[in-house]
Amino acid sequence: MKPTIGITSNIDSTAHMLQNTYIQAVIASGGIPFVIPTGVESDVEQITTLLDGLIISGGGDVNPLLFNEEPLPQLGNVTPERDSIELELLRHMLKLDKPILGICRGHQLLNVALGGTLYQDIISQNTNPILQHNQNAKREHQSHAVHIEKGTILESIAATDKILVNSFHHQALKDVPSPLIVSGKASDGIVEAIESTNHHFVVGVQWHPEALMQNADQFSMRLFGAYMKACTESMIAVK
Ligand code: MN
Repeated sequence: MKPTIGITSNIDSTAHMLQNTYIQAVIASGGIPFVIPTGVESDVEQITTLLDGLIISGGGDVNPLLFNEEPLPQLGNVTPERDSIELELLRHMLKLDKPILGICRGHQLLNVALGGTLYQDIISQNTNPILQHNQNAKREHQSHAVHIEKGTILESIAATDKILVNSFHHQALKDVPSPLIVSGKASDGIVEAIESTNHHFVVGVQWHPEALMQNADQFSMRLFGAYMKACTESMIAVK
């Protein structure tokens, strides 16, 4: 039996969308991917019973009303129907302590789900110089470093204190509430990775490891491998 992994998807006026790299990363790591649409909030209890793990995928901006702020002029596209289903999935999966991997927007939403806040736009809201976090290079390009905190899940996976990642974001985490801790930061102080100290495997990364896996990036493969191992353990524990 392989673990079943729910992956959330984006929606516009006509279609649900999910980049193929997420699906390929789950298959390559030994899981069975299931794409979760928006609009199924009332069935989340049943859906989360069927899942062994959840990946909150990347996408547009998080609605700032969810962390008690009104929109700044620099805010990009928000998708309230995505926020709604993803927050509901997160609440249930956290309660069940099933493994969660938040990627980019998913990492930001994980923080918001636990009461954290975001920079709506890191460039206009930071006075100190910041790096280019919305790279122009292709998705597989590793453009900036992430410094990893000692004693974290991330460190146990990376087995080093610095990795190189890709970067496609203009929002970032601001306040990170307990039980979350910051496990990785960019050189400019931008929070690039978080994890829960109160759950089996709840990890968020601001970059896109599923895209780096296309280039057989070793750390990204180990991250997905560690996540899938946690999902397998969760599956065995429940069934
Ligand atoms: Mn970045």
